[in-house]
Amino acid sequence: MKKGVPISAGVVVAKAYCVDEVMGLREPQYLDAAALSAEINRFDMAIAAAAELDAIVARVSQQVGEEEAAIFRSHRLLLRDPTLITKVKSAILERLVDARTALHELLDEYAALFEKIHDEYIRERMADIHDVVGRIMAQLALQVTGCCLEANESVIIVAHEVLPSQALAFHRLKVVGIATETGGSTGHAAILARSLGIPAVSGLRGILQEVATGDVLALDGREGHLYINPGPEVESAFRKLQREYVDTRDRLIENRHLDAVAPDGVGVELLANVNSAADAALAVSAGAVGVGLFRTEYLFLAHPTIPDEEEQLAAYRAVIEAAPNRCVTIRTLDLGGDKHVPYFGNEREANPFMGWRSIRLSSAYPEFFQTQLRAILRAGLFGNVQLLFPMISTLEEVRRVKRLVAATRDALTRQGVRFADVPLGIMLEVPAAAFCIEALLPEVDFVSIGSNDLIQYMMAADRDNPRVAHLCEPFSPAIMKLLRHVIRACGRSDKPVTLCGEMAGRPRCFLPLFGMGLRRFSMSPGFVPTLKEMARSTSVPLAGRIARRVLSLRTSRQIRDFLSRQARRICPNVALLDTRK
Ligand code: PEP
Ligand code: MG
Repeated sequence: MKKGVPISAGVVVAKAYCVDEVMGLREPQYLDAAALSAEINRFDMAIAAAAELDAIVARVSQQVGEEEAAIFRSHRLLLRDPTLITKVKSAILERLVDARTALHELLDEYAALFEKIHDEYIRERMADIHDVVGRIMAQLALQVTGCCLEANESVIIVAHEVLPSQALAFHRLKVVGIATETGGSTGHAAILARSLGIPAVSGLRGILQEVATGDVLALDGREGHLYINPGPEVESAFRKLQREYVDTRDRLIENRHLDAVAPDGVGVELLANVNSAADAALAVSAGAVGVGLFRTEYLFLAHPTIPDEEEQLAAYRAVIEAAPNRCVTIRTLDLGGDKHVPYFGNEREANPFMGWRSIRLSSAYPEFFQTQLRAILRAGLFGNVQLLFPMISTLEEVRRVKRLVAATRDALTRQGVRFADVPLGIMLEVPAAAFCIEALLPEVDFVSIGSNDLIQYMMAADRDNPRVAHLCEPFSPAIMKLLRHVIRACGRSDKPVTLCGEMAGRPRCFLPLFGMGLRRFSMSPGFVPTLKEMARSTSVPLAGRIARRVLSLRTSRQIRDFLSRQARRICPNVALLDTRK
């Protein structure tokens, strides 16, 4: 049994599917001589599809800039490079490997060569080769089926790490679990796993050396355990746990028509975090009263080029219509960190989460940003929309984005394009903004606490690094104190505040936050029934006592243990649905 970090609760038994960084099988694949010409064909098709960059070049040069478009022009050239193509084809024909294996070998060969080069500029071109090879592999992966897996068989993905853009490809496989070497519990891959209701464990060092595609795995996302080829007894115990977990979850969802009201009549708003219209529909069916966070970047990550204003409007409208008569909070792009689109360049930053991400990146491309603002303001005509800016650090930043919104409104008015005046809010994710919240509140209509980022910045512990997972957790006394400060400040100014980080979907965290006066929680749709059960079982005075006790404790461990005991006492069935840590 291997022990890792519990990421997404749930238990599952299925075969492993080992993937590399572009979702292809990892082990070298050898082919029969009869399969070679089909493989050459497959490679030619992948190259041709990957080289279809004309549309990207045109949109990038128009919306982002010429310099960025030049990157794609150079990629197009690389994709036509006869050396690259000949090398891969020779490997297929002479050594009977598949195209993906040949590409891996090519990458290794280039990496070894580039390492010897002293010129930093040339060395950095290796990133372009990676991008291009990745693009070809992604095309190849579209046609991949596992060698020892049945078509359509459920699989547990085993990988070094799953990036958000790759996780989007899950729908092509029947993914029922995720086991990774790295990735933290509030990283974006973890969030996606939770929103899909897939159990996940990370921090499993060396897993790729120990597991082969086709091995049977038993994964426990609540404890963070993984068994490799577990044998019949463990397997049947796991299957039983799996049934119990699913039964509890299914029973809870029957509360979807009930109100989230505490025993003493105090109401709570349970909202959903969504990436798409399908998520919004799921949220409504789970009983969410609105969308507290629509992460728009997935629209960009999944788009073959850049979504234009009309495409964006259609996507926003689809979410609004999937959650009829409910408030929908649309967050502007939150790219950078671990979410990359190729058109902003491939320069590697030393600290991407502390670097050029989110609102900092959007503001650097006003034209590009205003296209999104136009689409959101226009989407406001179709429902109850709010506009949310991520990762705000300073008052100047708030004022700058507000000026940009004002300019966008003026332009729409001048052009006679109809739009709605929507409330403006900011995400509190940077401690500086949370501490100075009083200065920011007069500028905005509402506030949303992004605890995933707030915790990582407050604790100086990367949310995606399992080695520092013990620091990057919500039960820290510092986090509790900061949240109380923000909730109080918002209460005094009468500004609505929502918590939309992963913490909002954790039953144990609900208790002190409710006690501090928080009444709006936004989470993965699957957690709404669980939190409703918690809300319906916890009175305000009880939550108040819990909050006071939590604020008097000095270590995360004490807070976690205390809250685990309280949660088990108040709602025993709900405790099963949370991760142990
Ligand atoms: C957060 O940081 O808590 C948040 C909700 O934003 P994201 O997880 O998308 O960074
Ligand atoms: Mg965030």
